[in-house]
Amino acid sequence: MSDGAEVDPAELHPLARLPEDWEVVLARAGEPRFRARQVFRWLHAQGQHSPTEMTNLPRPLRQQLTSETLDVPAAVGSVHRAEDGTRKLVLELDGARVECVLIPMTRPAGEAKDADLAALPDDDDDVADDAPRSQRVTLCLSTQYGCAMGCVFCASGRAGLVRGLRAEEIVAQVQIARRHLEPGEHLRNLVFMGMGEPLHHYDETARALRVLTHADGLDLSPRRITVSTVGLVPGIRRLGRDFSGKIGLAVSLHAPNDAVRAQIVPMNQRYSVADILAALAEYPLPRRRRITIEYTLIAGVNDRPEHAEELARVLRRLRVKVNLIPMNAVAGAGLEGSPPERVAEFRERVARAGLSCFVRVRRGDDVSAACGQLAYSGPLVDPARLRGVGRASREP
Ligand code: SF4
Repeated sequence: MSDGAEVDPAELHPLARLPEDWEVVLARAGEPRFRARQVFRWLHAQGQHSPTEMTNLPRPLRQQLTSETLDVPAAVGSVHRAEDGTRKLVLELDGARVECVLIPMTRPAGEAKDADLAALPDDDDDVADDAPRSQRVTLCLSTQYGCAMGCVFCASGRAGLVRGLRAEEIVAQVQIARRHLEPGEHLRNLVFMGMGEPLHHYDETARALRVLTHADGLDLSPRRITVSTVGLVPGIRRLGRDFSGKIGLAVSLHAPNDAVRAQIVPMNQRYSVADILAALAEYPLPRRRRITIEYTLIAGVNDRPEHAEELARVLRRLRVKVNLIPMNAVAGAGLEGSPPERVAEFRERVARAGLSCFVRVRRGDDVSAACGQLAYSGPLVDPARLRGVGRASREP
């Protein structure tokens, strides 16, 4: 795996170190190799950040570790709870303020029974999991403070990019979110869909993924992690190569052709729809997995019947499922989400062409925690307006 320029492990934040990095750091202090795994386990599997509590370490090592800042480099500024149980955590980092969102997999009243199934990864049921579905939680996390991509419907990109988050700040979101689980809840899925473009910031994102999936740490399953990108082709290729296609991939396509896409996704000037689809065709997907195509429906822009037909046509040779997202209200965007009947018709047309196509359930919109609303705190349109359209999905 490539991780960009070589760094001295001692210069990494302790939460960003893998066991092999700890080996280097601890060897300099004369410690045997196995101590590295012990320290890593305390920090990530146990969530223990106080060296004095690391009871299987010798006293001199515990003493030495007190000279490092082992705690998470983030503080919880506030917690906002939506009626549907979604919790948005506003985190204060060094010179940054980001949000992550805990989304319980509860089924809102009146939602179709198959909605939960639609939300699951394709081969999900192969994976042993003791937690009842009602107690599973998905965490949506951020990788940047702001975003450079400038998608017109998105609050996160409004102010441009302030800075990328470091690996330890990405890992910290998971650690903090675990502390905010309610009794019986089980953190099951991670989606890199919060503020920022994860692949614009590849090295830190990749390091965080390695830490989070390491067997001696949290040991999160790569198949339960989804990285969402606006379509940065070199990053898609690297992610596929570095993780053998095991990390789930979601691509924000939002249009079936360059003419429409260029109106809403400025990055389309760099990587065209054809470039992106070519990279997806080469992504080394494991058997029975599919790439998620995200498509935000914007009234009068990309929601016409011919757009649905063209989308189905350009995707027909790929192993994908389509996730339709009625655009959330974002103040000042001058755009509106497609009306429910338009969303339903669009889904119908794509599904009739033989593709799996779901409408994402809106979660947490009363606390601005819904898709495209992170970092935005203005007024919202009536969220009921777009609810209950077609089949539902709350997937990554
Ligand atoms: S949708 Fe994603 S890539 Fe586009 S501006 Fe928002 S955070 Fe950035």
